[in-house]
Amino acid sequence: MRAYRTTSNSALTVLAAEPPIHLVHRERVAYYYLRKNHEFPIGNIHYTPSTQPITENKTTTIKNRIRGETIKTWQSEWDTFERGGVTRAFFRNMSKSMQLVNTGISHNAAQILTGHGRIKSTLHRLKLSESDQCRCGQLDTVEHIVYHCKGDEAERKGLQEKIRGECVAWP
Ligand SMILES: [Zn+2]
Repeated sequence: MRAYRTTSNSALTVLAAEPPIHLVHRERVAYYYLRKNHEFPIGNIHYTPSTQPITENKTTTIKNRIRGETIKTWQSEWDTFERGGVTRAFFRNMSKSMQLVNTGISHNAAQILTGHGRIKSTLHRLKLSESDQCRCGQLDTVEHIVYHCKGDEAERKGLQEKIRGECVAWP
């Protein structure tokens, strides 16, 4: 996903619907031990070696539980992550966010939702724009674009419908 480099890494993993790399790594280690039928702990799971041959079904069940632990840890890391700002307003629940993001999210939407779009107030602060105002005359901020601007009403309606269609509450 293309987004500005300043976008916080945590917010990006949420938008990419992919758990952060350290959690993916932890999963791979667990899979490795599972294949070897060796004991391992992950989150609240403590796998003890099976004396029976492990069926494919059983492997799938355990892998699903491992993925569940990943999402749980990811959620608690996201909950305690201090930044996240606007992204957090839209993506609170990791499982639901993954569903929403998997329906496709545009480059522009990603920038806005991470608070790194071409926001006039930001560009003005960086001396890249003479004005800090939206084309409607109000101060141009992420919140203004997402929640308030009369000029973006049609897009907002579309976004609201899409978000509600995924059973995620509009912030
Ligand atoms: Zn406006």
